[in-house]
Amino acid sequence: METWVVANQKGGVGKTTASLNMGALLAERGKKVLLIDLDPHASLTAYLKFDPESVEKTAYDVFLSKADIAASCYKTDIDNLFLLAGCPALATLDRQFGTRQGAGIALKKALTECGLDIDYVLVDCPPTLGILMVNALAAADFLIIPVQTEFLALKGLERMKHTLDMITRSRKTAVPYLIVPTLFDRRTRASRDSLEILRENYPEEVWDLVIPIDTQFRDASKMGLSIKQYNSYARGTAAYETLLDTVLEMRGGETARLKLVNGGI
Ligand code: ADP
Ligand code: MG
Repeated sequence: METWVVANQKGGVGKTTASLNMGALLAERGKKVLLIDLDPHASLTAYLKFDPESVEKTAYDVFLSKADIAASCYKTDIDNLFLLAGCPALATLDRQFGTRQGAGIALKKALTECGLDIDYVLVDCPPTLGILMVNALAAADFLIIPVQTEFLALKGLERMKHTLDMITRSRKTAVPYLIVPTLFDRRTRASRDSLEILRENYPEEVWDLVIPIDTQFRDASKMGLSIKQYNSYARGTAAYETLLDTVLEMRGGETARLKLVNGGI
């Protein structure tokens, strides 16, 4: 089981869209996927046609150790895709639970102990730094950071890098990550310039390609469909397929390197 976290300390950059579409593509390729919605706004939960206000089983109970993940996740309309739902009460966890011993690794522990036959866990994060994001990053094998190609978004990325440094110090291992330029509009100067700055500042960490701006993402989300289900010929579909291939290759490369190291010992 691999855990991929989608995070950035900024809203509206495409985190939920990336979580859903990467998860749906993995599921379509025959992998068993669990999506975890850690955002109190619960857009991912709503995307998958569950009502965050009334959904019975949520990540909240898992954090409070009132339920385990296996008993709390739902099947979705997409084959092989499961959901651990988010809800508004998640916003109260910082106050209720943030200072308890082991609060920062509750999710990691719950995932390790869940006993589910799942290939990939994808975690959609809230845009704020708090106990939820700390838990997601502590559990992450890989981090995807969607960044909107506009100037203000670059600030959010700096904050995210600070957070990541802090987590790396406490985990004592770095989380491999990929910065993904999103909502890229090649007709606008702001998009082109900010992509250039992004590539200059993070030459090794930025994906070579971009997720283009495409109104079909919004239309697909309104219908509860992945972009590929909505239109397999959309530019956004091709972009997410390629992004998934890149991440799988990065992860495969990592496994191969580890095997090499271990084999060499
Ligand atoms: P976040 O989770 O970071 O707040 P979302 O994934 O919810 O961001 O995206 C914010 C809004 O932008 C949503 O309405 C979504 O449908 C839309 N959106 C996301 N990605 C794209 C894109 N590449 N092109 C156009 N609209 C997009
Ligand atoms: Mg979101």
